[in-house]
Amino acid sequence: MLTYEEARGKILDRVSPTGVERVPLDAAAGRSLAGEVRAPGDLPPWDNSAMDGYAVRSGDCRGEALLPIAGYQTAGGPDAAAVPKGGAVRIMTGSPIPEGCDAVVPFEEAEERDGSVRVPAPVRPRQHIRFRGEDVRAGERIIPEGTALRPPEISLLASFGRTMVPVYRKPRVAILSTGDELVEPGDPPGRGKIVNSNTHSLAAAVVEAGGDPILLGIARDDREDLRAKLSEGLAADVLVTSAGVSAGDRDLVRDVLAELGVENVFWKVLIKPGGPTAFGVAGKVPVFSLPGNPVSGLVTFEVLVRPALRRMTGSPRPVKIPVKATLAEPVKKKTGKTQFLRVMVESGEEGYVARTAGDQNTGILRTLVLADGIAVLPRERTDFAAGEKVDVILLYGMA
Ligand code: AMP
Ligand code: MG
Repeated sequence: MLTYEEARGKILDRVSPTGVERVPLDAAAGRSLAGEVRAPGDLPPWDNSAMDGYAVRSGDCRGEALLPIAGYQTAGGPDAAAVPKGGAVRIMTGSPIPEGCDAVVPFEEAEERDGSVRVPAPVRPRQHIRFRGEDVRAGERIIPEGTALRPPEISLLASFGRTMVPVYRKPRVAILSTGDELVEPGDPPGRGKIVNSNTHSLAAAVVEAGGDPILLGIARDDREDLRAKLSEGLAADVLVTSAGVSAGDRDLVRDVLAELGVENVFWKVLIKPGGPTAFGVAGKVPVFSLPGNPVSGLVTFEVLVRPALRRMTGSPRPVKIPVKATLAEPVKKKTGKTQFLRVMVESGEEGYVARTAGDQNTGILRTLVLADGIAVLPRERTDFAAGEKVDVILLYGMA
């Protein structure tokens, strides 16, 4: 049976970015850049004033100086004429520096009276000027391939006039829940029935991971129904199924996937929760068969499906970097499996502190609701002392 790291490795070996599309700049935030961006020009494009004040020649202001105001320069306004020696230009932030000037004196450091400005102290050459190309030089690589575009990258792209951006396409992720016992939320849950929460929690997880979910509803534990809905799912970029992969009499998902030509890559992993997880591929389509327990489904999504989606959405770093957290209390586990412990994370004097969210039974969703992260307890270890550092995968918006 594969370890957690081996299983994740096998998955990542089988997935690649979904493809590229061009989207408007304002739709690009959060997407990964396909290809790198080089600066088409200098930024700023010309020398300009960093302050509201007076543009001067520093050579005229070696000591106290009185300079007649020879011109007026607003941001976006017409260019002031070249400044004669001994003169100054009243200038606003962002305006081009008039020819001949090499420094700006802020309003706060000068005094204007009767058409002249008195500069009481010496002026350093280049002071309060933003020089052409000091931020970015033409031709420089400004955004590397695969970067998740955040507001600062959007700012750079906009500054260079970009209106369309090439990004990796969002994978379409088909989600199929399976089980005779399932009813949809809103339908009367008769005796023995269970509300299908997995379709909806997994769809939310897909959106959060940058994919587009396709909800295929429920397939009954019946070969015909499974065959029809699983084939529909194989038309997407990724297929995620829930339940029916354990050793129960009606656990038919793997069987029917094999009939449909899905190559089994692995079944069962040395992890808890999520042991019965299966993974296969049909051509380029990865197929994840997650266990039916709502907690197991979301935890396996986090540790096995998310890295695949990150790679498919073009991220150069498919595995999220875990944080180190100090255990607030001792924890015991059995040897043999990597355990994903649902923890609440706080900030302590020496960084993060992780405290168990409570009952770790896979039937308890409440402790996943309380959790901010998943502590990854290594397979071969059994006893963890309070004060020990462990790796924690922070969940969702928690950072
Ligand atoms: P199974 O993997 O089919 O043995 O299911 C394991 C457990 O998860 C059972 O208690 C199921 O009722 C429950 N379960 C299966 N599918 C879902 C679902 N879509 N939503 C919520 N619970 C489910
Ligand atoms: Mg079942």
